[in-house]
Amino acid sequence: MDKISFSQANMFQECPRKWAYKYIDQLPEPKSPAQEHGTHVHERIEDYLKTGNMLALDKFVYYAKNILASLGLKKYGKDYQVEEWLQDDQVRGKVDVIGHYADQKIIVDWKTKKKPAKFMNPKTISQLHLYGCLADAKDGDLLVECYPEQAKTYEIAYVSDMGKREYDRLIGIKFNAEMVVLNCDSADDVKATPGEFECTFCPFLKHCDSSYEIMKKQLKR
Ligand code: SF4
Repeated sequence: MDKISFSQANMFQECPRKWAYKYIDQLPEPKSPAQEHGTHVHERIEDYLKTGNMLALDKFVYYAKNILASLGLKKYGKDYQVEEWLQDDQVRGKVDVIGHYADQKIIVDWKTKKKPAKFMNPKTISQLHLYGCLADAKDGDLLVECYPEQAKTYEIAYVSDMGKREYDRLIGIKFNAEMVVLNCDSADDVKATPGEFECTFCPFLKHCDSSYEIMKKQLKR
């Protein structure tokens, strides 16, 4: 098995069979409208930051530019790297922007929810800390979650030991996933852990004979 990512690990943890549909059976994963929108926003921002292409200058880019400027990162393509892969032998993660301001490293992740949560989402915090760990960030470096659709709204966290703990969690899940790959020929052989939320948003629902709805019907009989 290749390097594991944060989203891959979370998918395995939610339901190993869901993970197996994607990574063993390699079924295409249909995108939800929210994911399509997220991709659009990321592409607009990325295009502008990499090329300075003004055609890409819509509101998402305008807001993203403001956010970077308020963090002290001003010039596209010069003061920061865009879309950087961070990785070692086992874990990898894609970061939207990495910049340096004075002695600080700044790691930025764009979010495209309509409204930011009241407090930083614990999953996002873990993800950013993991990226901080992979980027070998130090205490005092900034991890920033940004909402380009919300003008200047962003949340900041600082690097802590959480990144190392998150890294270890991913290594544990990677080991379990490797065992699944060794022992199962297809997703149908893999243990399913249905749940109302997990199954409702599962892109492979129509392939699965162990979904939450089926499980509920069986329990009623
Ligand atoms: S439908 Fe539910 S049980 Fe089946 S793979 Fe998806 S999440 Fe797992």
